[in-house]
Amino acid sequence: MFDKILIANRGEIALRVLRACKEMGIATVAVHSQVDRDLKHVRLADESVCIGPNPSPQSYLNIPAIISAMEITDAVAVHPGYGFLAENADFAEQVQKSGFTFIGPDPDVIRLMGDKVSAIAAMKKAGVPTVPGSDGPLPDNGERCLEIAHKIGFPVIIKAAAGGGGRGMRVVHTEAALLNAISVTKSEAGAAFGDSTVYMEKFLQNPRHVEIQVMSDGQGNAIHLGDRDCSLQRRHQKVLEEAPAPGIPDEVRQAVYQSCVQACVDIGYRGAGTFEFLYEDERFYFIEMNTRIQVEHPVTEMVTGVDLIKEQIRVCAGEKLSLTQDDIVIRGHAFECRINAEDPRTFFPCPGKVNNFHIPGGLGVRVDSHLYSGYTVPANYDSMIAKVITHAEDRAAALARMRVALSELIVDGIKTNIPLQEELVRDSAFAEGGVNIHYLEKKLGL
Ligand code: ADP
Repeated sequence: MFDKILIANRGEIALRVLRACKEMGIATVAVHSQVDRDLKHVRLADESVCIGPNPSPQSYLNIPAIISAMEITDAVAVHPGYGFLAENADFAEQVQKSGFTFIGPDPDVIRLMGDKVSAIAAMKKAGVPTVPGSDGPLPDNGERCLEIAHKIGFPVIIKAAAGGGGRGMRVVHTEAALLNAISVTKSEAGAAFGDSTVYMEKFLQNPRHVEIQVMSDGQGNAIHLGDRDCSLQRRHQKVLEEAPAPGIPDEVRQAVYQSCVQACVDIGYRGAGTFEFLYEDERFYFIEMNTRIQVEHPVTEMVTGVDLIKEQIRVCAGEKLSLTQDDIVIRGHAFECRINAEDPRTFFPCPGKVNNFHIPGGLGVRVDSHLYSGYTVPANYDSMIAKVITHAEDRAAALARMRVALSELIVDGIKTNIPLQEELVRDSAFAEGGVNIHYLEKKLGL
């Protein structure tokens, strides 16, 4: 096992990783920007290193500074959390070349899954169901593109192979609009991602977002840990998640689980990963893989009882998976509400000083947050400040528990989206289960 891990992240996920390391008896190094020296995990870590000024390109995305911090502290591995460098294959490669371990899959695997065209091809090969599409990059030939679109059937969506964060996509409803949409998406993709490759997919009208959690040791052993429904989204940003996804026939989910596990073995996957799918009319359609731990991983931890971060650290240290598929039993239901420092109506970020932070508690209530009373939320980073997670024996009980938990939560001094979350957990369609990815924006009148 690693002696010392450097945590190349901030906020709640850095604290989450720190706690796992401490439980495992692993020493920790926190790295932080100037404004972040008072972060909770920085105070709790064995050592800390300031890696640069506040803008993330100069600190949390500053690869040489992070590798130097590993060198001066004798850390042997780096946990990237999510966001920042978590899916940056060049970072993973430089960590390896410097003689350290990246807690995640091999750089080649990150690259394979980071390019959506190659990811889809790899998934198809493994038997994972994908969206009907162009099966590769769109050719430069307009007539061929029209043929492909007709074969798929309108509406279609043009997507950048290198796209991410909900950018680089364009929906096309008619033949007349197709060629212009392709050329605009190509030039946008070239400018934004440095790669103008685009591909085409059938545009699904009313899908849900359902994803499968996997864990794999890169030594031929892989398991799934069930699914999560993350359909409540605003601008492709998840707002409230749950596990398991409600109302999916068991044989349909079992089949997709098997294909994801097979895909992990086929690509030599190591660590925690998520296969993201659109789900419509009882069918799953793969859209992309996240080669890292995700924000919403706690709902899976609550229903499986598995500590995903500890298992991720173990397999990336070269150990075999400590669990078999038979060990994974889904018990009850869990929800997660993301609490953001933002105006609940305009969604503008609202950084500032938190005068009083009071967290809910009780059976089946978990709060993952780096906040404390007196902490100032900086304006420089993502606005998520806490995750409230509830678990109970069934969906209705877990939702009732969330209503109570949110009513106890106090973040005094800054505006937050707690009022929005309180409304969502009382929404009748959401309470029934299975709303699609457009539901929240329609409800908000967007
Ligand atoms: P990103 O990497 O930018 O997040 P994804 O491929 O995961 O891109 O897609 C983001 C979102 O775009 C999906 O969650 C869904 O809302 C929408 N989307 C993507 N592909 C399709 C599709 N084929 N049909 C309908 N919606 C889609």
